[in-house]
Amino acid sequence: MTPTVIFYILIGIISLKFLFDTYINALNAKHFNDVISEELEGIYNEDEYLKSQHYKKENYKFSLYSSLFSIVTTLLFFIFDGFAFVDSYVKTVSSNAILITLIFFGIIAFSSDILSLPFSYYKTFVIEEKFGFNKTSKTTFIFDKIKSWLMMIVVGGGLLALITWFYLETTTLFWVYTWALISFFTIFMNLFYSKLLVPLFNKQTPLEDGELKIAIENFATKIGFKLDNIFVIDGSKRSTKANAYFSGFGNQKRITLYDTLINDLETNEIVAVLAHEVGHYKRKHIIYNLLLSILLTGFTFFILSLLIGNQTLSQALGVETASFHIGLIAFAILYSPISEITSLFMNSLSRKFEYQADDYAKENFDGDALISSLKKLSKNSLSNLTPHSLYVKIHYSHPTLLQRIINLKK
Ligand SMILES: [Zn+2]
Repeated sequence: MTPTVIFYILIGIISLKFLFDTYINALNAKHFNDVISEELEGIYNEDEYLKSQHYKKENYKFSLYSSLFSIVTTLLFFIFDGFAFVDSYVKTVSSNAILITLIFFGIIAFSSDILSLPFSYYKTFVIEEKFGFNKTSKTTFIFDKIKSWLMMIVVGGGLLALITWFYLETTTLFWVYTWALISFFTIFMNLFYSKLLVPLFNKQTPLEDGELKIAIENFATKIGFKLDNIFVIDGSKRSTKANAYFSGFGNQKRITLYDTLINDLETNEIVAVLAHEVGHYKRKHIIYNLLLSILLTGFTFFILSLLIGNQTLSQALGVETASFHIGLIAFAILYSPISEITSLFMNSLSRKFEYQADDYAKENFDGDALISSLKKLSKNSLSNLTPHSLYVKIHYSHPTLLQRIINLKK
């Protein structure tokens, strides 16, 4: 295949993905006004329902404009040989292959982040603000940005430098070393991210003594589960939306509850949410997810190792000699249809796991309490009660509220 053909394949993949996403979003939006099924009646009153309709439409319009902006800038960058331009600039700055990769991706990542900044500002301070969700101050917003850049430089830069070095040293076997590195990093992060990363952005405090803690302890004793790592996180620093999650395993396992969740729900509803999270642990979802993502990473790096040295890939992006960073960009696009398929599979598996965790909560605690907490959480985040089934299959990591209620009532 000639570089020109590959160039058009890359453009084709990017454009098709855009058209497909736009179509699915439009399909979903067409069903915003569908009749709500019986099980979901009473979640919103009339005013709240109108407000949720308005919120959905506003978000839909916003995602349409932002994805349009993103596809236009991306295509222009490709058509005007943007990667070749950055590449030749970086080569005037350094001749060290590792530094070239780092500076190259630094420039690409930083510029695309700057371009998307007005959109994330608008999303937070206009849309979320208008509907009463936003609690982020301008200072928090700016510091979040700076902290995430620093993290990207230290963690992302460190990993990228190592991967480039593996490639330069080992060529064909580089995918094995990279796989080992990323697997180690994934497990390490799963175990320690609550201790190492979350504190950069949020405050976490152990759940204080009281009615809730007693209720949780009673539940833990009943199911014979050691549950002494329960933390409350100050989610209210940024948004009124609520959440809860399980992280780690072994002696690093912990449950994190948003302070907003504790505010919004009754004690037995919170314990039901917690029972759902424990269900994920008991059914080994954390381990399965880790193993699967490690397997997928290995597969991806293996395919990458087959293509990365290919000179035609670099030439397709206007760079004469095969280089690691240009090959990586071309690969990322060529691989994106495959990652669409794997994410479809991961989402479907994740929805299965959610049913299992719901079942666990029903069998070991109280299905009705979980239903009422799910309803409240949906209402408080103005969530869409009538998503299109294709949209759900592609984007939802959880079953819809209706599907979960029907399952819990079985
Ligand atoms: Zn879950």
